[in-house]
Amino acid sequence: MSKTMSSRVKSPITQFRNCRILYQHAIIREDLWVRDGKILNPEWLFFIEKGHADFQVDCKDCIISPGFIDTQINGAFGVDFSSNPESLAKGLATVSKKLLAHGVTSYCPTVITSSPSMYKKILPQIKRTCGSRTGAGILGIHLEGPFISKEKNGAHPVELIKDCTNLNSFEQIEDVYHSLDNVSIVTLAPESCQISKVISKLSNKGVVVSLGHTVANLTMAEDAVRHGATYITHLFNAMLPFHHRDPGLVGLLTSDEIPTDTTVFYGMIADGIHTNPAALRIAYRAHPNGIVLVTDAIAAMGFPRGTHYLGSVSVDVTDNGAYVTGTQVLSGSIATMDSCIRHFKHATGCTTVEALEAATLHPAQLLTIQHLKGTLDYGTEADFVLLDDDLNVKQTFIAGEKVWDNERENNKGN
Ligand code: ZN
Repeated sequence: MSKTMSSRVKSPITQFRNCRILYQHAIIREDLWVRDGKILNPEWLFFIEKGHADFQVDCKDCIISPGFIDTQINGAFGVDFSSNPESLAKGLATVSKKLLAHGVTSYCPTVITSSPSMYKKILPQIKRTCGSRTGAGILGIHLEGPFISKEKNGAHPVELIKDCTNLNSFEQIEDVYHSLDNVSIVTLAPESCQISKVISKLSNKGVVVSLGHTVANLTMAEDAVRHGATYITHLFNAMLPFHHRDPGLVGLLTSDEIPTDTTVFYGMIADGIHTNPAALRIAYRAHPNGIVLVTDAIAAMGFPRGTHYLGSVSVDVTDNGAYVTGTQVLSGSIATMDSCIRHFKHATGCTTVEALEAATLHPAQLLTIQHLKGTLDYGTEADFVLLDDDLNVKQTFIAGEKVWDNERENNKGN
């Protein structure tokens, strides 16, 4: 960073130059201007304020993308958000810090099906935070379960799954979670609840309702969307497979039985393991504006190859994934967000803009925070990532401040 002439305004202005920026669905050769942690409109700066840069940053011809947003991550770097409430604060700090290396500037810690007593211990600890020098921001919790299908439980403990079809008040659902204050997304199976009561109430409270771990058919899923559901949790995984006479949740991507002004978003684990590239292409080509890349990562993400212990389970981390030791049973995703973006681009042949928007604009739209994050629009928060042309993360910035630098990390190792 070099000092140049100072401007008339008090807060310093930083000009990021020699870069290409993702702006309004295109990558354009343009400088990025930042003040007070926000992206500035350069026209206003030049012509109205007559301001100038106080600092300049040479971006060495990198692409500048908004920071990545992961709406489903169960843990990473040895931390599991659904267990060990005693060390959760430390664990969150570790994950927030280390995600910066992967371009993630904000995320939704995801808590899988747990007991009411565990929710009571865990959920109050996961508060929304702004990102900072110490790590990525937290955009609220993603609660996956316990109102899901026992037939599609995946890694969720069956004995803790609940059916709320017979509950006669929404308050009884709140009793299970103890509090929804820190919650942004709830994944539920529509057949396990009264759609008109539960989904409407949750979405009216500003909680994103996501459909997943379910055996719902398309008709039921459409009913859930008409009552406020806007997201599908890890499309294809833990739901009925696509059938031409009843395409299940996958049918929501092309349904004409839902309001035309509703965008249904869908999470995809684009790690090359959980979803076949052909299935990824089918979903993406059918509904490109709804795709949201997620890692769905577990605590083993970030571990080197070898055998590790997750709680009492022994896991072998290989180049291809994490498996229960000695078996071919996948124990969860160990994908990083930047690798998912690269894989998604490679597998679908989409443009760089489309690949990046699936991890920035779309998750921000899902959470209705696109006026704050997920774009480089003027006035939004200056959380962004410098990438090379192969979409490798070079530097990460939060509120305009550099919080991670690939070069510095590499030098540390020498
Ligand atoms: Zn799941």
